[in-house]
Amino acid sequence: MSFAIEAAELDAADPLAAKRAEFDLDPAVTYLDGNSLGAPPRHVAERLDEVVREQWGRGLIRSWKQGWWDAPERIGDRIAPLVGTGPGRVVVCDSTSVNLFKALAAAIRLRPGRPEILVDAATFPTDGYMAAGLAGLSGHTVRRVAAGEMAAAASERTAVALINHVDYVTAELRDMGAITGALHRVGALALWDLCHSVGALPVELDAHDVDLAVGCTYKFLNGGPGSPAFLYVAGKWLDGFEQPLSGWAGHRDPFGMTETYEGKAGIGRARSGTPDILSLLALDAALDVWRDVSLVELRRKSLSLGDFFVRCLEELIPDVRILTPRGHGRGSQLSVAGSEKTMDELISRGVIGDFRPPAVLRFGLTPLYTRYVDVLRAANELAQLTESNEV
Ligand SMILES: *Cc1c(COP(=O)(O)O)cnc(C)c1O
Repeated sequence: MSFAIEAAELDAADPLAAKRAEFDLDPAVTYLDGNSLGAPPRHVAERLDEVVREQWGRGLIRSWKQGWWDAPERIGDRIAPLVGTGPGRVVVCDSTSVNLFKALAAAIRLRPGRPEILVDAATFPTDGYMAAGLAGLSGHTVRRVAAGEMAAAASERTAVALINHVDYVTAELRDMGAITGALHRVGALALWDLCHSVGALPVELDAHDVDLAVGCTYKFLNGGPGSPAFLYVAGKWLDGFEQPLSGWAGHRDPFGMTETYEGKAGIGRARSGTPDILSLLALDAALDVWRDVSLVELRRKSLSLGDFFVRCLEELIPDVRILTPRGHGRGSQLSVAGSEKTMDELISRGVIGDFRPPAVLRFGLTPLYTRYVDVLRAANELAQLTESNEV
């Protein structure tokens, strides 16, 4: 059977196929970069228009009391089921970078006398930079350790380890349960970065007894460029969670305008300043697409898309080098060795992925709107480019 027929049959049988219609996608483009910037759900523009015209335009300052001020906690509760937890554990605010700082700082306070922070050696750079920035203030040592060696490297000296759930370059999926368990056996805390797993696969923070987690919302959650990130704090740490960016939005009584800081009870204490309402409410609208989605179904399609993509690439491009694990220990992206010029050429042909140094082409598979015909088109275009030696 030809790949084209197979792709059409797989799309026809796809239980998530109807979801694609909820997104505003350019039919001329094959979009495989939802792992970097998710596509907009159709109704977001209309909702934002309403927010600007009605809530802001007519409600003016009164809107803060009609849903704006509490939006970070309310929208956090909507993300909770996507990361395997319940209400009151997740808040949406600031960027992932800033939330990493807050979570790391809270972790070292919860583990006094432990001089070391471990950081995933392959981490997305900002995580390592933020850990180093904090360590410069606190006097901790930052040690970079491969995720697979984290369990063996942690000791009584370790306050906290920061691990990326899915590697942003190779899409390797890390074993959240095993690594968290090993850290706990030496009394260290586990801080997981979920940027490439939330909305891409089921995440089980409570079941794995994770202490702290952060993630961004503009990738697989389609919140829009720069939409605010989230921060998760395990129930057992909520009372002890003290973070140094203690702005008034995390205050127990923000409008009391008191001189001294006293953190809110619960997850709200992770907030710092005034929430960015337009971005937050765009994210709020974007989250509607998850209402009727089974994460098990999502994962099944993600892996199936990836398996099909691998078969196409291997058959159509004889010496292709796939950098993502072949088995199912991966997130929702396929990475292939290639040059920046190749990606530029693919993009000019309407197949949008991205390039990461030194020589990686990334193709994000977003099961809510990526079709089998899309990955086949990407494989075909890449094959043509390779054959014609254009790149
Ligand atoms: C995308 C990404 C970030 C981005 O952080 P920002 O503060 O939103 O710029 C951080 N960590 C990981 C693992 C990422 O993939």
